[in-house]
Amino acid sequence: MKFVSTRGLAPVLDFDEVVLTGLASDGGLYVPEKLPVVSEATFRAWQVLPYDKLAIEVMWPFVEGTILRETFELMVIDAYASFRHEAIAPIKQLTSDTWLLELFHGPTLAFKDFALQLLGRLLDHFLARRGEHGVVMGATSGDTGSAAIEGSRHSKHLDLIILHPYQRVSEVQRRQMTTVMSANVHNIALKGNFDDCQAIVKASFMDQDFVQPNRLLAVNSINLARIMAQTVYYIYSGLRIGVLDRPVLFSVPSANFGDAYGGYMACQMGLPIAHFTVATNANDALVRALSGDLSRKPLTKTLSPSMDIVVSSNFERLLFDLYGKDGEQIANVMKAFQTGSVTLDSSAVEKARGLFSAIAVDDDRTCDTIRRIFAETGELIDPHTATGMDALSIAPAEMTKVVLATAHPAKFSEAVQKAGFDEVPLPSDMSDLLTRDERYTILENDLSEVQHFVHTVTK
Ligand SMILES: *Cc1c(COP(=O)(O)O)cnc(C)c1O
Repeated sequence: MKFVSTRGLAPVLDFDEVVLTGLASDGGLYVPEKLPVVSEATFRAWQVLPYDKLAIEVMWPFVEGTILRETFELMVIDAYASFRHEAIAPIKQLTSDTWLLELFHGPTLAFKDFALQLLGRLLDHFLARRGEHGVVMGATSGDTGSAAIEGSRHSKHLDLIILHPYQRVSEVQRRQMTTVMSANVHNIALKGNFDDCQAIVKASFMDQDFVQPNRLLAVNSINLARIMAQTVYYIYSGLRIGVLDRPVLFSVPSANFGDAYGGYMACQMGLPIAHFTVATNANDALVRALSGDLSRKPLTKTLSPSMDIVVSSNFERLLFDLYGKDGEQIANVMKAFQTGSVTLDSSAVEKARGLFSAIAVDDDRTCDTIRRIFAETGELIDPHTATGMDALSIAPAEMTKVVLATAHPAKFSEAVQKAGFDEVPLPSDMSDLLTRDERYTILENDLSEVQHFVHTVTK
């Protein structure tokens, strides 16, 4: 498979190069030039496959030619072996027509493990083959950092530098990062907010030379390998729910649109998903984008912090398709968006709305929904999942509904307690998390100080 940039000017790349490159050199995001279309007969044959075997089949066309089949099979099986539930992505029936797709059984209790357990192994493999050493640099408001650390803690070929805002992530989130004692893991608590962390990471990517001779790597959802891995669970759960024989809707708690875009790729591969509802919290960039208004609003801190974003970066990937894969037009739209708001082409927006409905769910509604779902079904859901659950209010009638449960409620006890419940216990293998030793470095919000730290730990 070849990969092209949404802005049309960067070189066409193979999978290994895309994984190692992250952002395209023209500022765009890489997307598959052409996705394989899977036949109905093949989908039916896939219905019986366990999660990891299905993952190998779904992802093979992406990676073919850059990695040996046997190596890839072992890598995928290994990536999902650490999940706490045998089904990896169990699907729980809540009511006669609503199902919960539990994506929180990975090592760090959020859906990001699905992608980052695999991405860590892919990066390690491609770096080893090139005889290179990599430095992953990433900013996190919580979930991405711990998932990236868990996915790469055993890597011999890369160091991880993860910046989180000092005293602004939950204790569970911080400890999931700082109690990992692997020599290649370096946590920075930056005296600033998440945007400051991101600004430092961005500035460092503009100045890649500072890590020479290492290669600087990105693990945020601009990395297409993450989206690829997320396509799998739409196909897995869709086939089990009967997507080939009845209309099925997926409801996706969303921020950067990476998770939802995985579902979109499943559609492009021929899976007949009827509709998506996309839920945001008060940070409703996606809701506005899907109504044709590409604009920025200041960040609001919410009870679903992993969805607190200002710009929904993966929306550009959808726009590329909506604008007929015209990279020049996307480059113009994104250039205008850099300095202001953009009104999107109305026929493009119309096309998107045929597949995606979007709604913003504020903190009050989030807490109401946690209470309501518990009262109706006995299931205690996390605040992110609750936004997806509430979004079913805008679902077209007569569809079977699958809500993506993106995190375990134990990870977000603040919201669960605000909704009136006791704190949820962590899984037993993590029960001592709050007493484990921690290791992290507190740094000022200063680029040169951070870069100096990176130099000293990656020597
Ligand atoms: C990252 C995250 C989301 C948002 O996913 P996007 O791919 O950014 O849309 C939702 N819920 C949880 C728990 C997350 O960690």
